Amino acid sequence: MNESEILDVIIIGGGPIGLACALEAKTHQLNYVILEKGCLVNSLYHYPMNMTFFSTSEKLEIGGVPFVSIASKPTRNEALEYYRRVAIKEQLNIHLFEKVLSAKPLQERNKPVFEVKTPKATYHSYNIVIATGFYDIPFLLNVPGEDLPKVTHYYKDPHFYAFQQVIVVGANNSAVDAALETWRKGANVTMVIRESQIGERVKYWVRPDIINRIEEGSIRAYFNSVITAIEPHQVHIQTPDGAVTIPNQWVIAATGYQPDFSFLQQMGIQLSDDGVKKPSYDENTHETNIPGIYLAGVVCGGLNTHRLFIENSREHAVKILNHIAAKNT
Ligand code: FAD
Repeated sequence: MNESEILDVIIIGGGPIGLACALEAKTHQLNYVILEKGCLVNSLYHYPMNMTFFSTSEKLEIGGVPFVSIASKPTRNEALEYYRRVAIKEQLNIHLFEKVLSAKPLQERNKPVFEVKTPKATYHSYNIVIATGFYDIPFLLNVPGEDLPKVTHYYKDPHFYAFQQVIVVGANNSAVDAALETWRKGANVTMVIRESQIGERVKYWVRPDIINRIEEGSIRAYFNSVITAIEPHQVHIQTPDGAVTIPNQWVIAATGYQPDFSFLQQMGIQLSDDGVKKPSYDENTHETNIPGIYLAGVVCGGLNTHRLFIENSREHAVKILNHIAAKNT
């Protein structure tokens, strides 16, 4: 391998924060590539079709490029349009549908160099930024029947569920959006909620809507309840009043997602053992316990995925690329 083939930085993940890192790398005239396992902003692409962000559009901007949306809070479609336009305008160097399988330091060199492997190629770089998000691994219900084709952890579009008996598991934003949307398209909706109330982080303009629909009996809700088994034509629920079995055609399990911790551990990144699994990194530089490997975006939060989002993790890109650029001078 000759020196000219070694990149300054490889960015793993082409989500909003991976793109923000690429824009900062460009600013510092560092050579980089983004390796993205799916399409551009893959997680956002897989969000529900009709989803509206809780952030206003200017808080989702990256690289100082204005994000114009019709309403103050943009839709998923507008966000896809925005990030794609940024990638085109800035001619970002991004390889799509190329999943990173492994990354490891090459020991024999005096200056640390990483070898990054995908099914298509092997790359080398002095630094790696991991911006892999949290949307690839859902929390499972761990009940019999969860693997039936009627169960999904990724709700997409309400039309499909018209005139069907649908169970929505969960009480946060994704569950509430799925329950309201499918009910409004004619589904018979039952929510199964582990807690005693609708989540307090549900968008403030949506929360009264779901509470009113439950109170008027349009959407049925079992609070303090869990699904115990799923069968092709019915679902068993443990409620405070005893076991209940209801007829059912589809289950939308909106039970949240977690980062791919094994991917981080495979690279030697330490995770906290307090139950949060927060990766070890310096808050000022975002460099992990492995020198040259940085973390950006929601992956930094461990299981606290609700604390980091686009609007408050855009700044990671600036910190990281400033640090990498400073090492080069
Ligand atoms: P992601 O957007 O998840 O990007 C990570 C990328 O890494 C993905 O494209 C993935 O395909 C790729 N990847 C993963 N593993 C690999 C691999 N091994 N090799 C290559 N590529 C890989 N945030 C806000 O600020 N405001 C909002 O209003 C808001 N609304 C939301 C609504 C919903 C329904 C959800 C689920 C989230 C919302 N968020 C919001 C959170 C926000 O979308 C995430 O925080 C944000 O996507 C984080 O960006 P990221 O770049 O860190 O991760």
